[in-house]
Amino acid sequence: QQRNSSDEPIHDTPHCLVVPLPATGHINPMLQFSKRLISKRIRVTLVLTRFVSKSITATTAREEEFNVRLDSISDGFDDGGMEAAESTRVYLDTFREVGSGALSRLIEKQSDAGEPVHCVVYDHCIPWCLDVAKKFGLVGAAFLTQSCAVDTIYNHVYQGLIRPPVTEQGILTLRTLPGLPPLKSEDLPSLVSKFGTYPAIFGALVGQFSNIDEADWVFCNSVYELENEAADWLSKRLPKLTTIGPTIPSMYLDKRLKADVDYGFSIFKPSNELCMNWLANKPNGSVVYVSFGSLASLGPAQMEELFSGLNNSGHYFLWVVRKTEETKLPKNYCFNPEKGLIVSWCSQLEVLASGAVGCFVTHCGWNSTLEGLSLGVPMVAMPQWTDQPTNAKFIRDVWGMGVRAEGGGDGLVKREEIERCVREVMGGERGEEIRRNGDKWKNVMKDAVSEGGSSDRCISQFAGSLINQVL
Ligand code: UDP
Repeated sequence: QQRNSSDEPIHDTPHCLVVPLPATGHINPMLQFSKRLISKRIRVTLVLTRFVSKSITATTAREEEFNVRLDSISDGFDDGGMEAAESTRVYLDTFREVGSGALSRLIEKQSDAGEPVHCVVYDHCIPWCLDVAKKFGLVGAAFLTQSCAVDTIYNHVYQGLIRPPVTEQGILTLRTLPGLPPLKSEDLPSLVSKFGTYPAIFGALVGQFSNIDEADWVFCNSVYELENEAADWLSKRLPKLTTIGPTIPSMYLDKRLKADVDYGFSIFKPSNELCMNWLANKPNGSVVYVSFGSLASLGPAQMEELFSGLNNSGHYFLWVVRKTEETKLPKNYCFNPEKGLIVSWCSQLEVLASGAVGCFVTHCGWNSTLEGLSLGVPMVAMPQWTDQPTNAKFIRDVWGMGVRAEGGGDGLVKREEIERCVREVMGGERGEEIRRNGDKWKNVMKDAVSEGGSSDRCISQFAGSLINQVL
């Protein structure tokens, strides 16, 4: 039985299914959002795909560890997940076909078991979940995993106001997009600026708006104060929009809080002891932490430039290189193990919160961006694809939280540029200014999810409305 933060059992309360796309950057924030709902007296079942569910059972997978009830549905790829599909389009189409039936059966099963479902909170990339919710007469809530700014751009594409490929004429429109700073082509989501790459993902991000007007709630994993102008514009288009982020365990935002309902951030368990031991004897703010998230893939030439840039900077570095990327590390590379550590995965929040980290070289995934802001860690932006270039633009020019490492004509970011950016952020006047901004944003993020803050109020309003509707 689920318990809320005051340890009362929550039984006769509304029951939400929360359904993320099976990817780390979607599961993590929706798991945390689930925990916030539980703390507001909502019962939650986090619905994973069979494949993800099996993978975590093999590693961590105890429900108590997350304090969120878990269940699973088939996406049509129970044995290999997304990787097993011949293309992203095939995956998304199959998930829609197989998943619609599977989600319907799960709703019926819950009802038969005396746990009727009242609401489905679904990932914006799988909008067919809303159709399933509506078929059963349930409350439907979209969960946007990207920023309001990025969704503003995709909404313009959906409405035909931006027509990729973006021509010079189109760029004029981009200088005056409502709620956004003037944008250049390199600041756009790559799926818009490099139109035609990853068409299935582009289709999903534009297609999220196809039925969203029928959703009863639209949650965006952002913070109103962070991008109020974009949020205001987007909520004219999507009147049900509210901001509920950052979906980060409160204990990382406020050290006085203990881990209670927030325990267990990630479904994927890192072996973190090595990182934390290595960080333990490093002076405050002395380490450069480098991660490109769960999906982005650098070429071998970029890996070599990055390695040399880090090594030449003379600072300590902790670099996450996923198992699948290891073969791209430069041949015969070597460094002093006291100076650098390469790991295949870590608990990023714990690392960023350690105090030893003074700079985050990041691909600017939206979760990583929110995590960097929430912990006030200065960033070196090295965006790779999708929404990352737009997040990088905001990191440097709107929030003053970092610098952007610029690539050459061939797109390669050279070692000298990486070294220059790291040095600029770790020391010097610019670094000072960024750290001051970091203190400001850290407080903004903490306040948003603290009792009565902008995001907390939105979540309370949703929970209150569900409770009123159901009881
Ligand atoms: N992450 C982690 N350990 C790592 C690297 C990443 O826990 O070694 C987490 C990170 O904290 C974030 C998520 O993985 O919550 C990555 O999401 P993001 O949106 O930043 O990037 P994506 O993986 O979707 O590209």
